[in-house]
Amino acid sequence: MDIGVEFSKGEEREDFVGNKVRPSIIFYPKDEGEVAKVVRYAYERGIPVVTWGAGTSLTGAVECNGCILIDVKYMDKILEVNEVDWYARVQPGVNLEYLNRKLAEKGFFLPPDPASFFLCTVGGATANSSGGMRGVKYGTFKEWVLALKVVLPNGKVVKLGEPLRKNRAGYDLVSLFVGSEGTLGVITEIWFRITPLPRRKTFTVMAYVKDMEEAGRVIVEVRKRRILPEMAEYLDREVVKALNKHLNAGLKESDGGLMLFSVEEDHLEDLLDVLRGNEVVVAEGEEAERLYSIRAQSAIALRAEAKHMVVEDIVVPVSKLPEAIKRLKEVERKYNVRLPVIAHIGDGNLHPNILYNEGEVEGLFEEVANIAIELGGSVSGEHGIGTQKAKVMALQLLKHNGREVLDIMEGIKRLIDPKGIMNPGKYVELAKKYAEGSGENY
Ligand SMILES: Cc1cc2nc3c(=O)[nH]c(=O)nc-3n(C[C@H](O)[C@H](O)[C@H](O)COP(=O)(O)OP(=O)(O)OC[C@H]3O[C@@H](n4cnc5c(N)ncnc54)[C@H](O)[C@@H]3O)c2cc1C
Repeated sequence: MDIGVEFSKGEEREDFVGNKVRPSIIFYPKDEGEVAKVVRYAYERGIPVVTWGAGTSLTGAVECNGCILIDVKYMDKILEVNEVDWYARVQPGVNLEYLNRKLAEKGFFLPPDPASFFLCTVGGATANSSGGMRGVKYGTFKEWVLALKVVLPNGKVVKLGEPLRKNRAGYDLVSLFVGSEGTLGVITEIWFRITPLPRRKTFTVMAYVKDMEEAGRVIVEVRKRRILPEMAEYLDREVVKALNKHLNAGLKESDGGLMLFSVEEDHLEDLLDVLRGNEVVVAEGEEAERLYSIRAQSAIALRAEAKHMVVEDIVVPVSKLPEAIKRLKEVERKYNVRLPVIAHIGDGNLHPNILYNEGEVEGLFEEVANIAIELGGSVSGEHGIGTQKAKVMALQLLKHNGREVLDIMEGIKRLIDPKGIMNPGKYVELAKKYAEGSGENY
């Protein structure tokens, strides 16, 4: 098939957690016009289209069988950095770490930093509305996208939003597309809000805590005292062990694991006071950067521990953290499994990781997700839904929002993608199927 866009035969690939991606053909467009050509071709023939950023999705969001895969790796240009209007206009295939390096040369940054920042594309992070370690202060990608260009499922190109901090012209379609996981179109250009690099001195504080319950207590106290860290992370003992084993991290293996904070100088004394009674190390400069990088690689170290890894992404209100931690421990005991936790604990976002070599873990997965639902939280803070969380997303929406809301979401998908070719069989579409079959009567 030659439509004037570079392509290769559809070799099989895997995403980061080993889900199979089996396209019939892979296109490598160089610009928006080429994306539009491919999508139009697919639309006319009713062929499914899946967009591939870097494949670091943890939720099966890039799985496909017989799809056209659009790999945006050649759409990797930073088109403009506007130092007065404070935005960066970029193509979707730009690597996030690379973008931040370029922005730093001009004194700016794009704050959300998924721990995959050195691997992932900005298009993937936008389509996923990724979060990260700085989420506690700066939120997720949805708070940093001003405008988008998108190739719709019918091959037409639209621009959504404006590169303005304030813009009330119409429904907020930018927010609709951010986090839509490639189910509504292919993002071909993004205007990101950027912000000046902090000027105040920051310190990294590592605390070896006696257990995860103590980590929960610390965060509740941090909030009560109105300390606003730039990063507030937790790694349990198993994670620390994996980091030492696979990445030679040289961390102390205490029973309770460790917390990692980054705070501006005027919050330091208060934070140290909250942490009193725990062994604490304060770091700056290169050592602070090393600890941040070690934290970013935690999932990679854990991935090496077992054949399969299923990553949960639950969020609970910070006030409910102690209760969530207690219930997670109960689930661990009940199933007699290792459930190592990596957490953006400062915003209540916990990643219990299910490691296993054989069998299935669906019951365990759902039980963990249910803890969040029952405590008024969410089954996903930042990793998204894909195929992995469609069922638990349906449960959450039915319980917290009602069936009507799921119907509205499905209606939006049908309106924009009437032939159902964009990343089909996932996310809202799959959640709706589960809801219909669930017989739940909330
Ligand atoms: C080691 C590791 C650590 C991680 N840590 C975090 C973390 O801290 N926080 C977090 O939020 N996530 C994290 N993730 C998950 C994941 O990396 C991020 O969500 C990431 O931003 C996805 O980027 P990607 O380029 O790999 O996208 P992909 O995995 O390729 O795609 C993700 C989704 O976006 C769609 N998509 C990709 N590009 C486009 C486009 N141009 N237009 C439309 N749709 C598109 C895909 O179809 C898919 O649905 C982590 C993953 C790994 C492997």
